This record gives sequence, C-alpha cells and structure tokens, in this order.
Amino acid sequence: MSSSATAPIVEFSPTDPNPDMDDAQRILEKLFGYKAFRLDQAAIIETLLAGGDALALMPTGGGKSLCYQIPALARSGTGIVVSPLIALMQDQVDALRVLGLDANFLNSSQSLDEQREVVSALRNGMLDLLYIAPERLVQERTLALLDQVELSVIAIDEAHCVSQWGHDFRPEYRQLSILAKRFPNVPRIALTATADTRTRQEILDELSLGKARKFVASFDRPNICYTITETGSMSARERLWRFIEGDHATDSGIVYCLSRRSTEETAAWLKKKGRQAVFYHAGMSSNERRDAQTRFLAEDGLIVTATNAFGMGIDKPDVRFVAHLTLPKTIEAYYQETGRAGRDGSPANAWMAYGLQDIVQQRQWIAKSDGAESFKIIQNKKLDALIGLAEMAQCRRQALLLYFGEEMREPCGNCDNCISPPETIDATRLAQMALSTVFRTEQRFGVSYLVNVLLGKVDTRITQNGHDKLSVFGIGRELEAIGWRSLFRQLTSAGYLVGDLEGYGTLALSGLARPLLRGETTFTMRAPAERVSKKSRSGKPSKSTASAMLSTEDRSLFDALKDLRRELAAKTKVPPFVICHDKTLVELARKRPEKLIELNDITGLGAVKIKKYGRALLEVISHFHDKPQLDNNLSATINATLALHLEGNDVETISQKRELDVETILEHFAEAIEAGVLQAEDVVDLDGEQIDEIHGVFEELAVLEKGDVGPAYRVLNEKYSLGVLKCLLAEIA
Ligand SMILES: [Zn+2]
Repeated sequence: MSSSATAPIVEFSPTDPNPDMDDAQRILEKLFGYKAFRLDQAAIIETLLAGGDALALMPTGGGKSLCYQIPALARSGTGIVVSPLIALMQDQVDALRVLGLDANFLNSSQSLDEQREVVSALRNGMLDLLYIAPERLVQERTLALLDQVELSVIAIDEAHCVSQWGHDFRPEYRQLSILAKRFPNVPRIALTATADTRTRQEILDELSLGKARKFVASFDRPNICYTITETGSMSARERLWRFIEGDHATDSGIVYCLSRRSTEETAAWLKKKGRQAVFYHAGMSSNERRDAQTRFLAEDGLIVTATNAFGMGIDKPDVRFVAHLTLPKTIEAYYQETGRAGRDGSPANAWMAYGLQDIVQQRQWIAKSDGAESFKIIQNKKLDALIGLAEMAQCRRQALLLYFGEEMREPCGNCDNCISPPETIDATRLAQMALSTVFRTEQRFGVSYLVNVLLGKVDTRITQNGHDKLSVFGIGRELEAIGWRSLFRQLTSAGYLVGDLEGYGTLALSGLARPLLRGETTFTMRAPAERVSKKSRSGKPSKSTASAMLSTEDRSLFDALKDLRRELAAKTKVPPFVICHDKTLVELARKRPEKLIELNDITGLGAVKIKKYGRALLEVISHFHDKPQLDNNLSATINATLALHLEGNDVETISQKRELDVETILEHFAEAIEAGVLQAEDVVDLDGEQIDEIHGVFEELAVLEKGDVGPAYRVLNEKYSLGVLKCLLAEIA
C-alpha cells in the first residue's frame, strides 16, 4: 500500500517490505469482502508479489482485476493499469474509491487542471492505483514521470488488443514492450478474457513477456446457457421477443444488431412492447453514447440495442442476457460479446437468431473489404468456424471450448443442443432436389424464389419465367418452407452453394455440388424443426434472475434493498452494482441479518462496505423481521432449498449443504413443483422414455387420484426413488 495521505479504513500492514499471501488474503477478506480466491487468482498474485511477470487468461467474470489490484495494494508504490477504454477506467476507479482507496486515471477526457492534479498526487506517492490509456503511457513525458515514482506493479488489461488479427486491434498496444526495458524491476501482468493460442503467443512476443508465468483458466462460463436458432417463418425480432418475454421479462440485457439503423428500430420496437430500451452505435455523438452507457449501468431492467461498437467499456455484472439478431464476425467476437452476460456468476442466457442472409452479407463484406488477400482468407475461415458453431447439432459449449484449445469431455447440459437435442437426418435426396432446382432455374434466384418453386407455389414471377413447367416444380411438398430454408442455409455453409458477390442474394452451385447431385456423396443435416424455446432439463435452473425464486416476502425485502442501493448509488454517484451485486442483496433478503457483525458472513461485503452501508442495510431489513417470512404457501425450508437450486447446485450438493437427505430435498422440490414455481424437468434427470414409463404406471394404479406414490414405487421395482416419483406426480397434479 502506498503512503496515502488519507489513512485507509481497513488495516493491513502497508509497511510490510515483503508482502506475502497472508497479506493478500487479508486484503481480499477485509477490503473486498470475499472469503476465498477463485480460479488462478492466488497463484497469479503470488507470482506478482514475488516480483515475477504473468500472463493471465481468465473468462469474463473470473475476477481479473483482483489479480493486479491486490498486489498493487500489498506492494509499496503505485500500481499502473493500462486500459484501452475511458469508460472502463471510470468504473474501476469508482469501485476502488467506494472501498476507500486512492485511485485515479489519466486520460484525454480530463481537463488540464484535473490532469495536473493527478500527476501531482502520483509524484507525491499518494495513489494506490493509476489507470492510464496506452497512447498516453507510451509518451516520453509519461514514461519520464513514472521514472520518478515507485511502482508496485504494471497491469496491461485487454492484452488481446495487441493482436493485429483480432477485431480489437490497437496499434499503440504494440509499443508497450517499452515497459519491459524502462521498468525491468516492476512485475508486469497482461490480462485478457479472450485469446486463442496464436493471440497468446502474440501477447507474449509483443509485450516482451518471455519470462512470464502463464495462467490459462478454463474459458468455460458454466452459468451462461447458449442458444442459437435459425430465423425461419418467424422473424428474428419476433423470436427475440418470445425469448425476452419468456425468460427475461424484467431483466437487463444487450441486443446486438447488424446495423445502426437496426439498433434504433429495434429499440423503438421494444419500447412499443413495453420495455425500457436505448440504442447505441458509433454514429452517435460521444455525449449520446455516454448517456446510453450511463443509463444502462444505472438502471435496472434496461435493454440496450447496439452494434458491436458497444461493450468493451461495460463492466456491468447483472446483464442477464446477450442476444444477437445477426451473426458476429468470428467466434472470438461471439464469445466476447456473449461473455458480457452473467458476470456475477448467476444464470444468464446467450441467445442468437440468424438467417442465410446474414451469412451472405458477411461474405460480401469480407469480399469488398480493403484488406489483403491473406486477411480475407483468415476472415472467411473465421466466419466458417462461427457458422459451423451455429449449424452444429452437438454440444455448443464443447465446440466453443475446443476452439479455444480446451477439451471438455462430457456435453455440458446447459446449451440448447444439450437441453433439446436436434434430430439429424440423411438429407441426400432433399439436397439433390434443392441443388437441381438451383440448376434448373439457371442459378439466377434467391432462396425465397427457389423454395416457392419446390413447394409448387403459383406466383406471377414463376409463371412468367415458365418455371411452373419445370420437373422440379412442386416436388418438395414433403418439407415446409422453413425446412427448405434451413437446408439451403446448411448447403451454403457447407460450401455446396455460393452466394453472388454483387449482393442480389442469388445462389449458384459450387464444384462440390456435382458429386452430390450424382449421388456419389451424401449429405446429413439437422432435422428441420421449429425449435421450441429452451427449458432446462439438466438440473440447472433456467430461470435467470437471481431473485426469481425468492419467496414473495423475501422478494419484497429484496426490492426494498434494491431501492436502498439505488439511493446509496445516487448519493455516491456510482452505478448501483458498485455498492453491491444482486447476489449480495439476495443473500441479505434470505438471511436477514440483525447485527453488523453478521454482515461479515455475507458475500461481497467487506469491512469498508459494512462500515459505510451496514447500518442502512440492517435498518431496511429490520422492517421485515416481524412479518411472516413467507406468504407464497411454501415454507422457509423449501425456499432455502430453492435458493440453493437457483444457485446452480444439484440435488446431492443441496443435500450436503443443508445437511438433509436427498429424499427430503426432492420432497421440497415436489412441493415447489406443485406450487408452480418449478418444473419437474428442472430437477430430475430422466429421459422421455423413463418419464413415459412412470406416467404409464401412475395411470395404471390411479396414483393421481389416490395421491400415494408408494404402490408405483414397488411396481417399478424401486428403480426410481420416492422423491423422484413425487416430483413427477406433482407436475401432473
Ligand atoms: Zn451443451
């Protein structure tokens, strides 16, 4: 800790010349309010405390910033953080100041006077942490300034910006290697949430981090459920509305759109539907953009519709969904954008709807771009990989992780393909019909026209062209239009068909098409089916709001605490989540602590926050002490079980945590199912066949009328536990 003028509220030993992991642990608990380090945090911090360099790859929400903030505080001197975006600096600095730390930033948004003030605080050793933009840092006068002060650690955030192949490339990042020469004795850490193997190497090379220890945390974001659907008969927007209305009726989320105009139209459309929405794109003035960002951070339940210009500066933990109304350009971009959901670790959704037109358009953009031929080839390959992800019938998470070089043995159980596996069929004959229709109509038409020919629809264009006389006219009635569209898209992404580069949307045969037409090769595809909106069957909750399953009474306390948080945030002029996360409020609403000391057990509340906000929180909670805990007809113990279920725990874990046996937990679930707050498939892991078997026996023995599962249990040879049977009975009761 630097010798701050203002005494720190939390006592740790700032003068310790050789800080160790005990110091780090103390800072973690007392200052940040967490009990234990996550992922590689401890090992990374240990490396920096010992004076070594590190490269840390951590998923978004993995707690990257603690990796350098704690060493910066434990070691003497000021910690320097290189950060590419001004909005990000502001948020981080706000969050640190709420903790009572001396943090500031240096960038072009400040007046000269403000900058002078920061420089003088830095010179006087009064800053714990200084955030600084890369272009500013590499200026000689900044380097000379830093020569004069003691530095504890140098952190280079968003280090993938160094990669010239990436979509976030920032040329000035390449000059940061100067830091190695200028400050050889200051430990450096490069951090990123997304980097494939090649980018990793680029970071190490370009930032002169050859001796850095490498920490690659799993890229898995288990709390995010991935869903990718095709737009078919229903427009992407209608699908989006179904998804938002069904899963996120009151949640904050981001909707990525293809164009600036589309962000504006979609926001207006959402407003008409009764949701609060703002749009964001690079064509807006910087003031307008800042306003949109500020609103998104400050307001609960706001949706932002945006182009891919939005997001890098956004560190909002309770974004419950990220939706794409168009294909991103690469899997990296998809992963980074979807990674903005669920940073607080609570369940969140990454949802995408795309159509053939998106693929054709992306290809055209690449073809028309000014890049070198080699660049275009890479971009096309990256797009292919993304389409592959969208098309696949297998676990999406396995594929995503594999793309980042990580092998996941079992399917995840928390993506659309795991939750409701798509059927696949041998589509050779259908593909031949589609391809010959393209051929017979002289490769001059787009999908809609081709589908109409296949379905035998009489329209004037078709008649004028004489295509109602073709042998292929009406041969495809066995499949609906949506199925044909899907097939054309899969044939396109698999390379059998190519779109014209002029942008008319017409399709032509590629060299691959002929062997397939001649029957020398076969084609399998995802069976054409309207995929229903996902429902978790894996024991993981699909309800996405942390507060969704609080009892009504807890819920109103939660809402009251949220109001308080908003007031505190407004007073301190920071976004609400800087005060504390939703998770903390949920825990408070459930545990209802009465004394300050009990707040130490609440996740996310450290000494400083308890001192600042503890009394206010307790005051609000005290109004709820006398009232009955529940008025949703479910007992406190059932709600305690539900809360653990909501946190993603399976039956066994809940039973261990609550020290109740599994059967009891299942009985809790059964009651909750009967009350309609849970579905059987959320908690019991049975396939359709097993469920049919049980339902059959229920019917035979009139279990529903008698309300006793005992006889069914015996008839089924005790194959399923009583608790499981009760859950299923509750579902149909
Ligand atoms: Zn999966």
